[in-house]
Amino acid sequence: MDEIAADPSHPRYASLLMRHRLEEAEKKGMLAGSAMIAHGRGEAFDYLLGEVTIPSALDATRHALASMIQGQRTVLSVNGNVAALASDEMLILASALGCPLEVNIFYRTPERMKAILGHISERKTALGLDVEVLGHAPNALIPGLKGPRAACHKEGILDSDVILVPLEDGDRCRALMEMGKTVIVIDLNPRSRSAREGTITIVDELSRALKNMVAMMDEKASIVMDAHYDNDATLDRALEWMLNTLKEE
Ligand code: ATP
Repeated sequence: MDEIAADPSHPRYASLLMRHRLEEAEKKGMLAGSAMIAHGRGEAFDYLLGEVTIPSALDATRHALASMIQGQRTVLSVNGNVAALASDEMLILASALGCPLEVNIFYRTPERMKAILGHISERKTALGLDVEVLGHAPNALIPGLKGPRAACHKEGILDSDVILVPLEDGDRCRALMEMGKTVIVIDLNPRSRSAREGTITIVDELSRALKNMVAMMDEKASIVMDAHYDNDATLDRALEWMLNTLKEE
């Protein structure tokens, strides 16, 4: 890693670390051509959040985690950027929840799938975790999606009732919603289609949101669903926060 990214006292350490992880993933062939652009869009919104977890995101995170704990067939979906940025947190969360991870990418090629599955397998071994990882042998299709991006596992995404889809694209988010699932989105852009389509949207940076979930799992018994949860209000609160940040500058 370069010297700036290796120095935790650098003011942009977290951001530089994420960029470094993407560069490494790119070298391994894990990313689609548009991965850096998608990340850049996220960074811009994170700047407006002040690169912190805001209170409405924490509320949404708690409610989302309670839904995942209660789910009968919870699944965590992983794409290239998620694998690059937060494989460890996804594996630790899946292990704590006792649910599978499924690699499910928009631009599916055998080479990218192999690179992502290989990376997750390495991290799983390094962490010593026993987590079921799906994606290698899709045997079902998500209704309403065309082409390879519809491919999924029946015992994973297809039959899930609660699904975490960080950094998901709007089409697939909508298709999953139409299947009647509880769809939990992590997306820094409160105006993206996924953010607006999802059941619960956490407007936060991926690795921060996952770290919060993992920490909350230590007090699992106190994590309960919010009967009055309102996703539109969550999105509005994030937008208001961003507007206030802009006004203060
Ligand atoms: P949609 O199809 O939902 O409208 P989009 O086309 O704007 O989404 P994509 O390129 O499909 O965006 O996905 C990238 C999304 O992920 C963007 O909304 C971006 O803000 C968000 N994003 C990128 N990096 C992160 C990150 N590290 N943490 C959280 N969100 C992120």
